[in-house]
Amino acid sequence: MTEPPVRADDPERTRILVVDDVPDNVDILDARLSSRGYLVVTATNGQEALDRVHGEAPHLILCDVMMPVIDGFEVSRRIKSDTSLPFIPIILVTAKDTAEDIVEGLEAGADDYISKPYNFKELEARVRAMLRIKRLQDELDQKNRELEVANKRLRKLSITDGLTGLFNHRHVHELLRDEWERSLRSGEPVGVAMLDLDRFKSINDTYGHPTGDVVLYETARIISETAREIDMVGRYGGEEFIAILPNTDEEAAAHFAERVRERVEAHLYRDEDNEIRMTVSCGVASAPLEGIDSPEALLKQADEALYSAKTSGRNRVIRSSEVAAAE
Ligand code: GH3
Ligand code: MG
Ligand code: MG
Repeated sequence: MTEPPVRADDPERTRILVVDDVPDNVDILDARLSSRGYLVVTATNGQEALDRVHGEAPHLILCDVMMPVIDGFEVSRRIKSDTSLPFIPIILVTAKDTAEDIVEGLEAGADDYISKPYNFKELEARVRAMLRIKRLQDELDQKNRELEVANKRLRKLSITDGLTGLFNHRHVHELLRDEWERSLRSGEPVGVAMLDLDRFKSINDTYGHPTGDVVLYETARIISETAREIDMVGRYGGEEFIAILPNTDEEAAAHFAERVRERVEAHLYRDEDNEIRMTVSCGVASAPLEGIDSPEALLKQADEALYSAKTSGRNRVIRSSEVAAAE
């Protein structure tokens, strides 16, 4: 239902569904409303009315109350409880006009009622009034949909690194906290890999910042392509990346990091004028790990392993258990 809201003063585009089990009653309303320019759709029982609502998407319904099988109250109830439908005003046209009947009709979801025999001018005025409300409601629905789309976009922006499209630093911390909790509950390990490009500064210095950006972007792609669907890859700092690896022990995390290391080493980075070779250093750690009682502590383990990879020659993967053993 994406068509623009109807205008209350624009009957030509307004479809009205007239429902009554007495064909003469339908014909009379059809003739009078059509003469005003409204597009009239008709039904002579409750089921037909419900079918028409889905088929013709009327903007308003004038519905008789007393009908066999599915009466006007039930038609109202079903339409108003159908969340796939937009707001469709229902005016009950009824000979039953005791206070109880009116209450029951409004409780069933009808928006207004008019007693038979009706004065057509009054009926028409009520139709216009209801169409005004429908127009406002449709505009509101449209605005809400737009807001939802904008919110989704903002949410995505707020967790994404602009250059690489990976998760940003802040969101990586949120994700790691979630994974940490999940790991505590399930008893499954959680691995982290910290990856830092080697001598990246010289790329900027030699080829310029835009080429540095290309290298970062392509490295992000290599890491993402190496990761599984359930892994979470983020840009942790300038030329530093992180992968959170659910259900991954230290050995499997080291495997992952080694595959990334190999791919980076094998990849020919290029800008318009240059072909560039890069390497990456990685530190990995996995929890549960003795003495490690927080996601921050786990990160620190991976970071120390990364530092060790740097100081021992770069272009290698070091596990946190290797660092601990060397101490
Ligand atoms: P190491 O092997 O010890 O990691 O040396 P390195 O040169 O890679 O590390 P260092 O931390 O000295 O330099 C990182 C550089 O990354 C410095 C900074 O200018 C650059 N950098 C950070 N963010 C960006 C970015 O978004 N784009 C580009 N092109 N460069 C960036
Ligand atoms: Mg570096
Ligand atoms: Mg760095």
